[in-house]
Amino acid sequence: MLDEHERISALKNMRLLDTMPSENFDRITRLVANYFGLPIAAISLTDTDRQWFKSKVGVEHNEIPRHKAPCSQVAEHKRPVVVKDLQKDDYYADSTLGQAGIRFYCGVPLVTPDGYGLGALCVLGIEPFEVTDEQMATLSDLAAMVMDQIELHHSMGRIDPSSGLPNRHQLMSDLSDLALHEKGSEQIISLIDLAQTTQFDRMMRVVGISYLDGLMTKVARILREHLDGGTFAYHIGPTQFAFIVPKGTKVEDYRPFLEQIMRALYNEVEFQITMTPSIGSMVFRPGETSAEEILRSLQSAVQDARIHPSKIAFFCPSLDVQHQRNFMIQREFPRAIIDDAQLSLVFQPRVDAASGLFKSAEVLLRWTHPELGPISPAEFIPVIEASAYARELTMWVIATSLQQLSKWNSTGFPIKLSINLSATNLQEADFWDRLSVDLARFGIDHDQIEFEITETAMMMETKGSQDLLETLAASGIQLSIDDFGTGYSSLSYLQKLPVRTVKIDRSFINDMQEGNRERVLVQSMITLCHSLGYEVVAEGVETREQAELLTVMGCDELQGYWLSKPIAADGLIRWMSDRHTAQHYRLEAISA
Ligand code: C2E
Ligand code: CA
Ligand code: CA
Repeated sequence: MLDEHERISALKNMRLLDTMPSENFDRITRLVANYFGLPIAAISLTDTDRQWFKSKVGVEHNEIPRHKAPCSQVAEHKRPVVVKDLQKDDYYADSTLGQAGIRFYCGVPLVTPDGYGLGALCVLGIEPFEVTDEQMATLSDLAAMVMDQIELHHSMGRIDPSSGLPNRHQLMSDLSDLALHEKGSEQIISLIDLAQTTQFDRMMRVVGISYLDGLMTKVARILREHLDGGTFAYHIGPTQFAFIVPKGTKVEDYRPFLEQIMRALYNEVEFQITMTPSIGSMVFRPGETSAEEILRSLQSAVQDARIHPSKIAFFCPSLDVQHQRNFMIQREFPRAIIDDAQLSLVFQPRVDAASGLFKSAEVLLRWTHPELGPISPAEFIPVIEASAYARELTMWVIATSLQQLSKWNSTGFPIKLSINLSATNLQEADFWDRLSVDLARFGIDHDQIEFEITETAMMMETKGSQDLLETLAASGIQLSIDDFGTGYSSLSYLQKLPVRTVKIDRSFINDMQEGNRERVLVQSMITLCHSLGYEVVAEGVETREQAELLTVMGCDELQGYWLSKPIAADGLIRWMSDRHTAQHYRLEAISA
């Protein structure tokens, strides 16, 4: 029943079902009962399988089953129903009302302006009753008054009380209307966001909601001053306003207008201090893009605007694809953590440059999503690091690495693993406690682990992270600086940290083939690090030439595809045994 489906959605749209009683409606039902001189009257709304009473006189219940309820007939056929005596009516005699001793029923339909029957205004008696034409006419007038109230109530749900502007519901409904009446035309819609959620929360705490309401009223005023007659503004979220620009406006002409609004906002001193307004806009064709999709795209454009100097941006589908993918990564990762099939570890060996002997392996995380397939850590780690899940990620990697180490220990391969940490891990107050518990649980010696921390993460240190690094180092766990050379750290600063090893970023190793300058750079990095007492590891060694050169330069250890790609746990032990028995890897050419 397509019509019934639409009728129900019209009813739900009214947001009346299961709401509190309201005097505006009760006044009418009392009037009906008095006017007829009958004990029962109700405003009865026809939901999927019940009649729910928005207002009632003389009944206890809030609802009755829809089955065989006369009000349901009224709503469905949008015609009055009068039953003089239910007991004598073949159909209604055994209905809920009939069985409750009701004899008389008279109901007139409540119909929306778009023609949906929401329910009935009805009057009931416990004796048979004869209704006059005049009474019927009055009941219909009163039903029209009920509908006026409903419409009023409805529009109230569509106005934001703080700014007096239409709200998000109204915007959604206007976008749907546009889709019907302006299908295919080109339109522009903009979204102003005054503050990021975190900023807003902070302000709520500091200045309170009524002060913020005042600010929003000011924004509404500024918008009203700037928007001409054809543009409608909406207040769609605590700090968000939207407006649809008149049809035919060109994007080029529109930009100066946005800049003008931006200036007006920044002219308000209060905004300058407390908020960072940004405007995202998009061009859309009503009917081709759904209202939900438009709002989502606008939110994405606002994100882009935030990082743009002008604080103005137009929706860009390619940036949006990235946002969406990042969003998806954030959404899916928590499940991956608890699903054994999704996350796994691989290990990449690090060897002594001179002897070619295995020294340790770097632990690298792999994620295979059931639908999306493998997702590169280069893609997901930065996203997760910026989320609350950085902690869980590292906890998982550490626990799984230690478990693996304990397996290897028990099979006679007590090797060393190097685990990557994120900057935020260093801020976790309980990091050391959790780690100690895990180390003890799996019986792992502290010198079996090293933590790699990027140069950039080291620079973000606080008192807490400095203490943690000291504790780790004092306990015998080694620390290394990862991706060395890519940050802007000063070595004199890094020297204060209890770090033993420096891993030269693979971009420098890769560049060595470019020429002498690049080689000299790597040579000086190695010499400098040595003079400061660090061991030096070269990452991303892909060719024999690079390996030979680095060995001559005095680099202590090598890691890279030329030696081995990251491999699964079993593969690593096999790789180690093969190398060591075959003595396959030896830089004879150099040592000779
Ligand atoms: P990273 O710590 O610099 O790790 C080394 C990356 O270089 C790895 O990429 C490795 O596969 C790759 N690689 C190794 N040798 C070569 C080579 O010869 N040539 C080239 N082109 N690449 C080589 P992967 O596994 O994709 O990891 C990327 C990054 O993701 C890592 O860079 C690290 O920053 C992060 N990551 C991976 N696993 C973890 C983890 O468990 N925790 C944290 N916090 N970050 C991780
Ligand atoms: Ca690393
Ligand atoms: Ca690295």
